Amino acid sequence: HNSHRRVISIAVSSQKGGVGKTTVSINLAHAFARAGVRTLLVDADPQGSVGLSLTRQSRLLTGFYDYLTDPGIPMDRLIVPTRLETFALVASGQASDYEAGGGALGAHLARVRAFLRSVAARGFDLGIIDTAAGLFGVTGDVIASSDAIMIPQQAEPLGGRSVPKLLEGLNRLRVMNPRLSVLGVCLTMVQNDLAESTEAAAALRQLLPEDMVFQTQIPRDGLFVRASARGLPVGVLEDGAGAQIVFDALRSEIEAKLDPADSQRYPHG
Ligand code: ADP
Ligand code: MG
Repeated sequence: HNSHRRVISIAVSSQKGGVGKTTVSINLAHAFARAGVRTLLVDADPQGSVGLSLTRQSRLLTGFYDYLTDPGIPMDRLIVPTRLETFALVASGQASDYEAGGGALGAHLARVRAFLRSVAARGFDLGIIDTAAGLFGVTGDVIASSDAIMIPQQAEPLGGRSVPKLLEGLNRLRVMNPRLSVLGVCLTMVQNDLAESTEAAAALRQLLPEDMVFQTQIPRDGLFVRASARGLPVGVLEDGAGAQIVFDALRSEIEAKLDPADSQRYPHG
């Protein structure tokens, strides 16, 4: 029965903007969908561009923030199908005068939870929720309502400075939502041909507990910029197969973390 269905929800969040949250959300959601997991990509950033990336009219779509304003809006009006049968999205919507990363915690908790229950009832297996930068306000409520969180972090020389703040943030999230599974930090925009970048990535690994950092690192690759500009996940570009493989690897790591019994299938480094 639908009422028993569970959807696993993963919030993609970080204190900082411009670290690759949206890029990770779109491409990771696509990686799961390609693998046959019924995936809903939710744009919970009022400045969001997830919808923009997949359907050109997303600015006109009714979306997540409209639902927070009026939970009477039927899910049918929110869920936008894509060409891939297992992949759909919810745009951020019109009611976007929210300060998503700030403001009081808890104000939208009930509605975010109602939203996720409706997503489950619609038969999705997985919800990937792209959030605005910050860990308060609506973003905090999304995290408090989610099963898991992953934190993209740009591999840059000063990245280490944000680590204490990051750990502090993670602790606060765990208090807020004790059943939250912290999947970990995903290093993004790593320039493998640049010592400063790979050293910064290695330094961040040193500062964080080993199981708190994904083995998979997202390389800096113009393909991601090109894909966004064309409104697509990278995997559907003609030459995007190589870049897609990185997100398939990230998907495998997440599957193993969500279901440790399966972890032998996904040996770690
Ligand atoms: P956020 O959602 O955290 O603000 P975005 O995913 O929008 O971050 O990324 C910020 C900018 O960096 C965008 O212009 C995006 O195209 C670019 N970008 C993100 N990830 C990569 C990457 N791995 N390689 C190259 N450019 C990237
Ligand atoms: Mg974003």
